[in-house]
Amino acid sequence: MNLWPTHLKKLIPHGQSGGTILDRLGGRILVYAGITFLVGWLGLSILISRIHEQLVMSQNERSVLLVTRSVANGLRTIMLAGDAVIAEDFSKNLQGVSGMVEFRILRNDGTEAFRTNDTIRLVNSRLGGDRFSLHKRETRSQILPKDSEALQKVLTTGQESPFYSQDPVTGAPLLTYVAPIPSQEECRACHGQGDAVRGVIKLTMSLAKAREEVEQARWWIFGFGTLVTGLVMILIHLVVRRFAVAPLERMAAILTAEPASADLEDRFIPVRGCVEFRQVATAFNRMTTRLNDIWSGLKEERDKLTTIVLSAREGIVVTDRHEQVALVNPAAERLLGKSTQQIRSEGFLQLFDDPEHLRALREDHARELPGLAWFNNRMLQAHAATIRDGNGEVIGSAALIRDVTREKALEDELRKLSNTDGLTGLFNRRRFDAALLEEHDRAKRYGLILGLLLFDVDHFKRFNDTHGHDQGDRVLQGIAEVMRGHFRSVDYPCRYGGEEFCVIMPSTGAAGVTRSAERLRQSVESMRVDNLQVTVSIGVAIFPGAGREGPDAMLKAADLALYTAKRRGRNQICQFTPQMETPPAE
Ligand code: GH3
Ligand code: MG
Ligand code: MG
Repeated sequence: MNLWPTHLKKLIPHGQSGGTILDRLGGRILVYAGITFLVGWLGLSILISRIHEQLVMSQNERSVLLVTRSVANGLRTIMLAGDAVIAEDFSKNLQGVSGMVEFRILRNDGTEAFRTNDTIRLVNSRLGGDRFSLHKRETRSQILPKDSEALQKVLTTGQESPFYSQDPVTGAPLLTYVAPIPSQEECRACHGQGDAVRGVIKLTMSLAKAREEVEQARWWIFGFGTLVTGLVMILIHLVVRRFAVAPLERMAAILTAEPASADLEDRFIPVRGCVEFRQVATAFNRMTTRLNDIWSGLKEERDKLTTIVLSAREGIVVTDRHEQVALVNPAAERLLGKSTQQIRSEGFLQLFDDPEHLRALREDHARELPGLAWFNNRMLQAHAATIRDGNGEVIGSAALIRDVTREKALEDELRKLSNTDGLTGLFNRRRFDAALLEEHDRAKRYGLILGLLLFDVDHFKRFNDTHGHDQGDRVLQGIAEVMRGHFRSVDYPCRYGGEEFCVIMPSTGAAGVTRSAERLRQSVESMRVDNLQVTVSIGVAIFPGAGREGPDAMLKAADLALYTAKRRGRNQICQFTPQMETPPAE
């Protein structure tokens, strides 16, 4: 019996050692927690690296701004010292500074200063003489467009203006500062009245190093994140395994283990682990205890039932829902004269070698007379029924077979006795009445003829008085013997009462009945009982000539004929005619 695990297996799939990792609780938690952590960490990493990048870049911006301002101050100092040539060298030297991509001193129109002689001539003319020597070779380079946004911003606000660009060759990020060289009182001696901004410097620094650092930091963050994710997943795995998966696996292993028997004793779960598991285990164990009790009770009842079924004198055959014979008790084998094996292989409906008989019994088990069948030299009485569950679904069939051979024989004997006269062994009055009713009815329905003869011993009172009542009885027995040897099996020889007898002769007309009556009369006359002789008078009635109204009328007609025979001198036969004189009322 596999009742227990079948129900359980629906709740906890059993024996699934294969499958993907997601089929297992631990795997599922690990994967989902890992994905969640990874996504979280990825988002956090991106945020951290963005903030880091911004910090680095703004740091760089500040540094470049400071450099720009220092350079602008240095340049102003040089210019105020009145040595523009040094400014030119200063500009050249700055080109060599590490990270410096470009350093230029520009005029307000975006052209590079110290490359033409325009300003030198103007200054020389203002100061008088050849204060500054002219360039032998002039080059005019437009470094920033005149309408450059950065340039215009610096000229209008007098503040430094930064902008980012890319190195066209290396693709490295570049940060450029355009810074003003403010016009001071001291400048006017050489340059005269003019704009507030005397000129601008353009300083471009490479951010390749900074970007490299940012990239490096990013890889560090991702690497570290991956490592932390791995460690967290291992931790989750260990925690989940220790506190959830292992206890559940333990439970599942106990609950789904293939049972050696149907006993539930081995099905208790150890109460340990987290509170929830302890609660589940306790509740489950309580349920198992209850089931154990029920199961033990059921087993006891089953054992009792089995004992009753096996020791029953009645044959019992039960099938399962598929009409397969599931149980045959020894009594059934004995009564049917078949082995269990044979009954199983032949099938339920073939118990009596007549499927229709059993099917009819099963479908009409409520009828009053249960099925009787002469089988295996026995009169067997069978009850059959369809077994249904609470929902009305068929779950099997059952047959109960009893040996009623003895009862049937006794019943037959009893029936015979109730229809037989004790003294003569002939049918009694009860049977006669029933038989006359039946035969009269049949004759009437099918248009048949029916003969009835009624006879009475002549002067029997006198005989009794002379020879004694016992002797009279023996004569009556003698007459019965004569009757038995005289009539056909279809006739009904009866003792009507006292010393009166009658015989029903179906399908026999007047000639046949009269002939038989005459033979009987002669036989009785020639019979000797203890050397004593009696005679009989016989009245004959033939349907439909007589007794049209019914059996009583027919009997009455025979009686009238008998009366007439007596009146005519006894020891004779008289057939009824409607003209017969009725006896005077007593
Ligand atoms: P009858 O010729 O007119 O028939 O004259 P009877 O004397 O036979 O008159 P009746 O038929 O009226 O008599 C019936 C007698 O039969 C009365 C009784 O003594 C006798 N008798 C009735 N039943 C039994 C019986 O069971 N055994 C014996 N020995 N005699 C019986
Ligand atoms: Mg009589
Ligand atoms: Mg008589």
